Amino acid sequence: MKVDLTDIKALENREVEKRVPVDLVTFDSKLGKFPITKKEDVALHIRNEENKRLFVQGTTELTIEIPCDRCLEEVPTTFHIDINKEIPLEETPDVDEEKLEAKDYMLGFHLDLDRIIYDEVLVNWPMKVLCKEDCAGICKKCGKNLNHGTCDCEKTEPDPRMAVIQDVFKNFKEV
Ligand SMILES: [Zn+2]
Ligand SMILES: [Zn+2]
Repeated sequence: MKVDLTDIKALENREVEKRVPVDLVTFDSKLGKFPITKKEDVALHIRNEENKRLFVQGTTELTIEIPCDRCLEEVPTTFHIDINKEIPLEETPDVDEEKLEAKDYMLGFHLDLDRIIYDEVLVNWPMKVLCKEDCAGICKKCGKNLNHGTCDCEKTEPDPRMAVIQDVFKNFKEV
């Protein structure tokens, strides 16, 4: 949602609290399109500091369904989002860089909250998503989810890690 900052911009040293809904329903990236299944309004705190800058702070949490890297089953993944932005109000040469950084989530004097949240999710995107630590994955031949049972495919290429496990079992039997 776009948050209008025009009012607070004109109110020196004022602070406002706003609850702002999140419009995003999916997270679309190069990796694909992921449904957002849970989200809560953002509690925003906006402060005008001496008409020099605005501080925008807020937190929220959202849950995105991301497929497990091994079995592709959707894993609800929670993102805790901290928003901490400083928006300069004055035209001075030394704030040029901040201005540049602020550009992509500012539309005139509207804060593009969904854009901020999108960027935070992107930065915090997990390297690896597993439905459980020991997820068995899917059979490369028939595609069966091996967490739900084994399949009848012939295991022509035994996984070296499986061979170790088989050895362990053999040793157990001998005891
Ligand atoms: Zn899995
Ligand atoms: Zn199979």
